[in-house]
Amino acid sequence: MVKKIALEEHVLTPGLIDYWRPTMTTVPPALTADLFKRLTDFGDVRLETMDKSGIARAVLSVAGPGVQAERDAAVATKKAKEANDHLAVEIQKRPDRYAGFAHIAVQDPKAAADELERCVRDLKFCGAMINGHTNGLYLDHPSLAPFWERAEALGALIYLHPADPVAPLSVLDGYPALARPMWGWGVETGSHALRMVVGGLFDRFPKARLALGHLGETLPFLLWRFDSRAKFQGLSLRKPPSQYIKENIWVTISGMLSAEPLKCSLDALGRDRVMFGADYPFEAMEEAGHFLDTVSLEESLRADVGYNNAARLLGL
Ligand code: ZN
Repeated sequence: MVKKIALEEHVLTPGLIDYWRPTMTTVPPALTADLFKRLTDFGDVRLETMDKSGIARAVLSVAGPGVQAERDAAVATKKAKEANDHLAVEIQKRPDRYAGFAHIAVQDPKAAADELERCVRDLKFCGAMINGHTNGLYLDHPSLAPFWERAEALGALIYLHPADPVAPLSVLDGYPALARPMWGWGVETGSHALRMVVGGLFDRFPKARLALGHLGETLPFLLWRFDSRAKFQGLSLRKPPSQYIKENIWVTISGMLSAEPLKCSLDALGRDRVMFGADYPFEAMEEAGHFLDTVSLEESLRADVGYNNAARLLGL
C-alpha cells in the first residue's frame, strides 16, 4: 500500500449536528445512523479503517453544511469556534494520525479571518474547509477580502466542499437523482470556484490557495475552453483562467475513483497538484485507498499523489 494523507475526512462535533440532520432526509434511517456513528467516532473504527487503507494521517473536517447554514452571524461565529476547539482536543489525542481543517463562519469576515488565524497558529490546523455558499454568499464576494487577505498571509489552504445550490436547478426538475452528488453538487461547486477565477479573486490575492474535491469538479477537463472563450467575453483578468486554476488550485481524488479523470487532472494541472482524499464516511475509505494503490501510475507519482504533495503543501 502506498502511504497516504487523506484530505476530505469528515467528523461531526456536538454543536453542529442539527445542521447536518436535514441533509439526510432522503437517506434511509439505518444508513444515517451508521454515518452518524462514524462521523462522531475519532477512535478505533476510524483509525482501523485508516490502517486498512494505508492512510497515515487524516485531515479532519466538519461534515456540511455546519455554520454555512446559520443565519445569525454571531451564533455562526460562536458555533464554529466551539467546533474547532472540540476538533483540536480530538486531534491532540492522536496528533500522529490526525490534522484538521478549521470550520469557519464567513458571515462575519473579520471574525472569520481571526478564527482562521487562531486555528492555524494556535491549534496548528492546516487551513479551513468551507462547505459551499453561506446562505447564498460565495467566496468571491468583495466583503470577504479580510478573510482572503489573512488566508493568503497564513498560506492556509481553503478547501471548498460541495453543497446544495441556493435554489434547485430547473434543468434538473423531475430528476431528483441528478440533484445532488451525481451531478448538481459538481455544477454548484465548479461554478463557485469559477466565480473566484473570473471575479479576479486570484489577481487580488495571488498567493491564495484553494482546494477542490472530485478531481477539481470538472475544471481540469475544461481549461482550453475557459481560455478560448474568456478572450471573447472581455474579461479583465491579468492571466488566462487556466493559469489561475493551475497556480492557485489543488485537487483531491475524493469521490472520483477513476483513472481517466485522474490522468486528465495530473496532465492539466501538474503532478504536484493532485492529492488523496476519501470523503469518509460518505464514501468507503478502503475503496479510495485501493484505487490509488492499484491505478496505473508511475510509482513516484503514486507516492506524490498519496502523500508527498499534501505533506509539502500542508507542512505535515
Ligand atoms: Zn465530503
